[in-house]
Amino acid sequence: TDAHLDAIEAARVLNAFVMETPDQARSMARAADEKIAKGDVGPLAGIPLGIKDLFATKGVRTTACSKILGNFVPTYESTVTSQLWRDGAVMLGKLNNDEFAMGSANETSCFGPVGNPWRREGSNTTLVPGGSSGGSASAVAALLCMGATATDTGGSIRQPAAFTATVGIKPTYGRCSRWGIVAFASSLDQAGPIARSVRDAAMLLRSMAGHDPKDTTSVDIAVPDYEAAIGKSVKGMKIGIPKEYRLDGMPAEIEKLWSEGAAWLKAAGAELVEVSLPHTKYALPAYYIVAPAEASSNLARYDGVRYGLREQGRNIIELYENTRAEGFGAEVRRRVMIGTYVLSAGYYDAYYLRAQKVRTLIKKDFEDCFAKGVDAILTPATPSAAFGIGEKGGTDPVEMYLNDIFTVTVNMAGLPGIAVPAGKDRQGLPLGLQLIGRPFDEETLFSLGEVIE
Ligand code: GLN
Repeated sequence: TDAHLDAIEAARVLNAFVMETPDQARSMARAADEKIAKGDVGPLAGIPLGIKDLFATKGVRTTACSKILGNFVPTYESTVTSQLWRDGAVMLGKLNNDEFAMGSANETSCFGPVGNPWRREGSNTTLVPGGSSGGSASAVAALLCMGATATDTGGSIRQPAAFTATVGIKPTYGRCSRWGIVAFASSLDQAGPIARSVRDAAMLLRSMAGHDPKDTTSVDIAVPDYEAAIGKSVKGMKIGIPKEYRLDGMPAEIEKLWSEGAAWLKAAGAELVEVSLPHTKYALPAYYIVAPAEASSNLARYDGVRYGLREQGRNIIELYENTRAEGFGAEVRRRVMIGTYVLSAGYYDAYYLRAQKVRTLIKKDFEDCFAKGVDAILTPATPSAAFGIGEKGGTDPVEMYLNDIFTVTVNMAGLPGIAVPAGKDRQGLPLGLQLIGRPFDEETLFSLGEVIE
């Protein structure tokens, strides 16, 4: 814990932590030591972690990196983090993220952008760590913590993991409780770990997962010993290569990485088959209707009355307007406007309802594929390596949204997906591969992920 606290201090330039909790960390570490001395060794005893600022932490400021929650100190602890503390983990502090987890570069945080510890060969340009869990990925990659919590609504665990050569898994929707996590798009949000290795990710997920009566969408099925899946033979497993993910103009190095990944799995005894997920091309536009729709509804609670920032006004409507105009950043306001529009009378059927129908078709594509005996699907995790801060999305937010092209389908279908570091691009930057599994079969992803790692 002390070594990590020192590392955090030395790496403040990355802006990965938005709140450091050294006193709490030391006292949690001491408590873990005392328990260990008594022979009571939890599975994560004394392991120092960083927590994305979307998870409510009792008595510790939790902001979702939005000005509107700038002064919010929860009186309760999220289920996921309380399970980590139950198992002996230590909290080092809260990690930066895109405001309300909306973004793919960690550039929308009210605390400013996060730096990626990786650099292009021969260049000093600071690169983004990806988003929205940019602080989590950067902190793990820079060895500021042994692992971190993160959330993934459309790729926010897997894309930053790919940009930083870390491992990130988004479990099946319903695997982790969403209770106490600031809501973005409730039907898509899932918590998961970002870690230094596939094995670490397996250990962390085991603590984070599990049924919680406080979240009605959390599923009551046993959490397996994920670590046991590591090193298990993948011989005879059928791996699907979806042809729709072979995009026009895809960089040759991504194409190459993908073939290499397939070859590694084949060498380990897996069988590769081409599969078709015909509705893939509609996933991104449908996601950018469903996610803002749910966000506009979830964010209605930030009214300046119940908690967080409050601006004054001559009447209650003005108070709402002033609070929300002042408290939300540009990307969040854009999402609220899109969401409100697609849910409004007259447009609901044309946009929101249609997007929900598309979502069903996307889910069915995967079901058809798994019904044919496919155990997992291999794809690139991102269409490129990390880019420079401010390099993308400047005048055109859609340019940024295109980053999520390989990850959003997984959230739309509620499936588990893991991103594993697999190689480097021409400039020496990390690239990741993604494995997508059957519902609640994270174990297969850990077994296959370890082969690629
Ligand atoms: N980049 C996507 C978005 O901005 C996904 C974010 C996420 O997974 N939280 O919506």
